[in-house]
Amino acid sequence: MQIARNKIEQLRDYIEQPQRVVILSHTNPDGDAIGSSLAWAEVLKRHGHEVTCILPNKFPYYLDFMPGCGDMVIYKSDTEGRAAEAVRSADLIFCLDFHTMSRLDGLGDLIDENQHAKRILIDHHLNPMEDFDLMISYPEASSTCYMVALLVETMFGAESISKDMAVNIFVGMMTDTGNFAFSSVTPDVFRMVSVLAAKGISIPDIHNNVYNSFTEGRARLFGYVINRKMKIFHNGTVTHMSLTEDEMRRFWFQQGDSEGFVNYPLQIKKMKVSAMFTEHTDFIRVSLRSRGDIDVNIFAQRYFNGGGHKNAAGGKSFMNMADTIKHFEKSIKEYAKEGKL
Ligand code: 5GP
Ligand code: MN
Repeated sequence: MQIARNKIEQLRDYIEQPQRVVILSHTNPDGDAIGSSLAWAEVLKRHGHEVTCILPNKFPYYLDFMPGCGDMVIYKSDTEGRAAEAVRSADLIFCLDFHTMSRLDGLGDLIDENQHAKRILIDHHLNPMEDFDLMISYPEASSTCYMVALLVETMFGAESISKDMAVNIFVGMMTDTGNFAFSSVTPDVFRMVSVLAAKGISIPDIHNNVYNSFTEGRARLFGYVINRKMKIFHNGTVTHMSLTEDEMRRFWFQQGDSEGFVNYPLQIKKMKVSAMFTEHTDFIRVSLRSRGDIDVNIFAQRYFNGGGHKNAAGGKSFMNMADTIKHFEKSIKEYAKEGKL
């Protein structure tokens, strides 16, 4: 994968002079959202820009080792109005690792108040919205972090990637590829890993921080969900699990504790689609995963007002849990009838 020359030149023009910059990423931020934002922020700061990274809500506790994450403004708990001030005065607004304004929750309205800033997208989701001055959109890229690494390497040289940037970029590349196991992984992804590894990062430490730093509550919740809530149907090929707010409280739930649960049922040999429904105050979050040719991006668009990637997508339901599950089972039947399962 190569990022088009003309896109890089336009980006170079935008960032040539020091500017006020805002970097935004998506709600329920993951390693790729945080890693790409922090790495891009670091390189822009070094070139004299004044940079504010904003996230709609807090990231999971086990990602708080990521260098610089403490400086990110969390819009939901931003009582001082730092996010509003930064967005209002921004000359450039970068949108990283998301493709639709619905992924910004309330932050989207804030951005609409600033009509003079140039808007730039750097993202790898399918079907991105169109209203950008510059769109660097590569759905074939395995992560936004990989795209940021390529951009930095092409524009400023690999030597400009610091050790902190390498940690942040590696986290997103590792998590968005299921540990470099998805079909989106190319030889150049491994070349980039080699560039990052040469910066002296500790891959075992990063791995432990991301995957082995959970609470006891999460371990017990996981056991409960798999044992008690995993329902398998459609001849053993589709599964769903759900978590209500009440169940989360019983296991001392902290934000991020259910991340990754949805992947687990795909370890069952015959399984093709896995869904997870998580109750929030105003809606139910829907997470979908699939194997091979089965497209949950289209499924999420059609039935849950969402989107994402072919094998990992999500959306929202505004029905109660029982109706959401009924809707899912019915939708799977319909999808299967069309030969898409
Ligand atoms: P997750 O299941 O990890 O929350 O999300 C998996 C993928 O689906 C992510 O790439 C994410 O961007 C996408 N996704 C999750 N929720 C939504 C949503 O509400 N709307 C859209 N358009 N995409 C979503
Ligand atoms: Mn991503």
